[in-house]
Amino acid sequence: MKKILFVTHAAHYGGAELFLRDMVIHARQGGHHWPVIFLDDGPLVQDLIAAGSEARTVKAGAQILKLKRGSSLRDVVSALMGIFAAVGALVRAFRGVDIICANSQKSLFLAGLAARLARKPFVWILHDLVTDSSFSPTMRRALVFFANHMTVRVVANSRAAKDALIECGGRGDKISVVYNGFDFTADLPDSGAERDAVLREAGLPDRPTVGVFGRIAEWKGQHVLIEAIDRIPGLQALIVGDATYQDSAYFDRLRAMVDEKHLSDRVKFLGFRKDVPRLMAAVDIVAHTSIDPEPFGRVIVEGLALGRPVVATRGGGVGEIIDHGTTGLLYPPGDSAALAEALRSLITEPALAARLGADGRRAVMARFSIERSVQDLEGVFAGL
Ligand code: UDP
Repeated sequence: MKKILFVTHAAHYGGAELFLRDMVIHARQGGHHWPVIFLDDGPLVQDLIAAGSEARTVKAGAQILKLKRGSSLRDVVSALMGIFAAVGALVRAFRGVDIICANSQKSLFLAGLAARLARKPFVWILHDLVTDSSFSPTMRRALVFFANHMTVRVVANSRAAKDALIECGGRGDKISVVYNGFDFTADLPDSGAERDAVLREAGLPDRPTVGVFGRIAEWKGQHVLIEAIDRIPGLQALIVGDATYQDSAYFDRLRAMVDEKHLSDRVKFLGFRKDVPRLMAAVDIVAHTSIDPEPFGRVIVEGLALGRPVVATRGGGVGEIIDHGTTGLLYPPGDSAALAEALRSLITEPALAARLGADGRRAVMARFSIERSVQDLEGVFAGL
């Protein structure tokens, strides 16, 4: 069996990191040992160790961890100068490994260089739409260069992510698609019981409730849901997730918006939560509000898996999950009037909400199981 080693930048809970955590844990149950090196400390390291997997941290230089999508050429060069120690440590860690697999942009650069020095086949898992305007032209060129010249294979988390890389000059013949995989074997939470408990905890009465789940960041568009709530008296919302330091001003704006619109008795912020399935089971509708195209959108699959009706913005990988009118409702990004209309239709037509939830659950269970994703990724490695 080929020895695979994953390298990823962050060890906190984001979509890309949860993808890797679930894959590694599930692959282990199937007899595959997929160790992970993190480039920064965080809770996922302990989570993986607790689940019996091998995980450790090789600290990258501060400069490379500061790199952002919009970084200039100067930032990139200064980061490159600070990474020699980390690359050296990675080269040593790669001894005895057959394939190196990077799960983030920063690990693409660091592990890509180290894999080249160690002469190991290198795979990159792409979790972004590189056409996104938040990528600087320099960063986009660097990503495409590494994808084309440093990897033997790129794994995109949606067809949309694959197409975006090709549009920017990426080699299509190198790119496979492997979707996020989910464990559908867990028992469904008892919606009725969870609903009472969650609404009580949030200080909300028993009224129609919509939830939005994910990082608080402007492009995730939580403000669009607040605008929609303002248009529908009687509808209330749970906003679940936290902001990173760089998005804290947006979080402040959301709170101010709720106060200005006198919605504090109908909109509650719950912060980052580890019990997302329980909270999703408690709401009547799961909303997705990203105003930029979403590369994939785990929260959409998670909502559908629980049989909730999901309303999501059109674009990116979302169209690969939801078939409008059959397994969910789609609306134009940023259009709070259209979101309000979709929410209103789900509240006033319970039969529609129930059908979309049930058909959505069936559809995601057939297409996004963790077994299938692990198998697809194993297939990529086996083919190298
Ligand atoms: N999530 C979580 N707690 C929160 C908010 C989000 O565990 O308070 C999880 C959510 O369940 C999902 C992931 O974070 O699995 C977000 O993934 P998604 O693909 O929706 O967005 P990304 O973070 O990749 O942009």
